[in-house]
Amino acid sequence: MHDLSKLEKRLLRAAAEAIRDFDLIENGDKIMVAVSGGKDSYTLLHLLMRMRERAPIDFELVAVNLDQGQPGYPAEIVERHFQSVGVPYRMLHRDTYSVVRRLVPEGKTTCPVCSRLRRGVLYNAAAEMGCTKIALGHHRDDLIETLLLSALYSGALKSMPPKLRSDDGRNVVIRPLAYAAEEDIAAFSAAMQFPIVPCDLCGSQPNLRRKRVKGLIAELSAEHAAVKGNLLHALKRVVPSHLLDRDLAGKVAAATGKDPWLDAEEDEDGCGVDEAPGEASGLVKLAGASEDR
Ligand code: SF4
Repeated sequence: MHDLSKLEKRLLRAAAEAIRDFDLIENGDKIMVAVSGGKDSYTLLHLLMRMRERAPIDFELVAVNLDQGQPGYPAEIVERHFQSVGVPYRMLHRDTYSVVRRLVPEGKTTCPVCSRLRRGVLYNAAAEMGCTKIALGHHRDDLIETLLLSALYSGALKSMPPKLRSDDGRNVVIRPLAYAAEEDIAAFSAAMQFPIVPCDLCGSQPNLRRKRVKGLIAELSAEHAAVKGNLLHALKRVVPSHLLDRDLAGKVAAATGKDPWLDAEEDEDGCGVDEAPGEASGLVKLAGASEDR
C-alpha cells in the first residue's frame, strides 16, 4: 500500500522540477487543463491545483473535458469530479467520433485522425477562452516509449517536447508531468479514487507497437531498475559528437567554433559487449588496465 502523502510529494516534486527546468508556467498564465477522465489527466489537475495554492506566482486553471461523441461516453462523471474539487471548468462536446468513422477505412487505426481533430477543438477552445497554455497529462513513460518508438519505427531520435507552440502560434502546449513516473501516477490515482472513465469506448485497436515497446521497457526494468530513469536522463544528456546528425553538428560547430566530431572525447569501441557506455571504462580504470587499443 502506497503512502498517499509520500506519493503526492514525489509527484509534486517531479512536476515542480519540470516546470522549473522548462519555464512551463509564468505569472499571469491562464492554463487550460485537458482532462479526459483518465488517471494521468486527473492527477495533473490535482497537482496543478495543489501547486496553485502555494505558488509564489499567480496563475489560473480551467479544467476542460471534451466529449468526442463516443457511444456511451459518460461526460457527467468528469463534470461531477470538477464540481467536487471546485475547479472552474468547461465541458465541450464535438462529435469527432462520426467524422473519424467516416474518414478512416474499417480496420485502419483511428488514433492519428482522432487526436488531430481533438487537438483542433482544444486549440480553438483555448484561444476562445483566453488561455495562454494547454496542459496535457503525458508523463515520463509516455516520453521514453515515444523515444524508442520513434527510433525503432520512424528512424528519428525524438520524443515529446515539454512545451510546444502550435504551428499557427496561437497556443502553447505544456507537459508538467514529463518527469513523473506512470507507476506513481497510477498508484496515486487509485488511492485518490479518481472516477476513471474507460478509454476503450471509441472501439479503436490498441496501439500494438506502443504496447510492445512498453512491454520491452518493463522487461528490461525488471532486470535493471534504473532503465526508465536512464532513458529519461538520456533525453537530457544528448552527446552530438556521438551521433551522426550533420545538422545538429553544424549548430554545435557554429556555437563553439569547433568541429564537433574531431574534438570529441574518445569512446570505447567494443565489439557489442553488454556494458552500458561508461561502465566499461570504469572497470578498465578499476583494474588499472591499459586503455591501449
Ligand atoms: S484511443 Fe480512441 S479516443 Fe483515443 S485517440 Fe485513439 S481513437 Fe481517439
